Amino acid sequence: MNKKWYACEMHCHTVHSDGDFTVPSLIETALARHLDGIQITDHNAVSAHAEVTDPPIAVLKSIEWTTFFGHMHAMDCKKDIDWRDAVPDNIDEKMRAVHEGGGLVGVCHPFQLGTPICTGGRWQYNVKDWALVNYMEIWSEGCPFMNTPNRRTLDLWHSLLDKGYRITPTFGRDWHRSTRDVYHSACTYLLCDGEITDMKMKQAVKEGRTVISMGPLFYFTIGEKTVGDEVSAGEQEIEFTLNFERMKEMGVSEKVTPKTIKLVSNGGKTLKEIDPTCLHTKITLKESSWFNAELWGSIDGKEDCLIALTAAAYVN
Ligand SMILES: [Zn+2]
Ligand SMILES: [Zn+2]
Repeated sequence: MNKKWYACEMHCHTVHSDGDFTVPSLIETALARHLDGIQITDHNAVSAHAEVTDPPIAVLKSIEWTTFFGHMHAMDCKKDIDWRDAVPDNIDEKMRAVHEGGGLVGVCHPFQLGTPICTGGRWQYNVKDWALVNYMEIWSEGCPFMNTPNRRTLDLWHSLLDKGYRITPTFGRDWHRSTRDVYHSACTYLLCDGEITDMKMKQAVKEGRTVISMGPLFYFTIGEKTVGDEVSAGEQEIEFTLNFERMKEMGVSEKVTPKTIKLVSNGGKTLKEIDPTCLHTKITLKESSWFNAELWGSIDGKEDCLIALTAAAYVN
């Protein structure tokens, strides 16, 4: 089957929690923005799910557990789990319950300013087994490339990859209303087999097939392998794809000028910098390591911005 990258928004609220969107207006707005899929993640509420009937785009039905110790997505969890007694030391148990209900776990905006600015917005749970976490919002909200908490999240993600945890990076606009809209927003590209569906969105997150981007679609391939795959140690030829078509369709208005591609590996160290006009390189990959690709350049004249970042690939 043909694999294809789809532009999605992974963090949306409706009038079922504190958003201004009704379910139909959220879906209509996402469609008008040329998004291929969204994830509805109302705070502590699943009542929006019943209003999703035959949508024109893929709609993943999830929830954002909004607690005093952090916000966490339970993606497509079929089990009703009580989040009200979640405390720092029982979060592993709660995450296991989400998995038992067929769901995936996502850590939201872990370094957001917490209480009293946003109740429980800062992640304070004591996760003992990070293998229970499927994805993490590496980028959150508007201007994600220049937002300091996101920089800290990136460091946390690198340190977890260093420990061998395979956590998928996502972007979450934390979309509540259409004012928090196109300008300086990003998207999460998901790689799906054939046409996108809600379950294929979930599968892409589970398999680590994501790219977060200020607009351009950017990813790498090594032969048949790509983002989320295991590749062999030793010398490998890497091809990059950089494509601005979807960005234009989505109406992203920033002037994005790529200047360099960085291959990043353990410790967040840059293995190699590549000229983005070349899109091809050879590299020697070290056994038991991870690597991903970052695209750097200017955004609306501001230099040295992270434009896009891929999920990791793992070297065996
Ligand atoms: Zn939140
Ligand atoms: Zn939210």
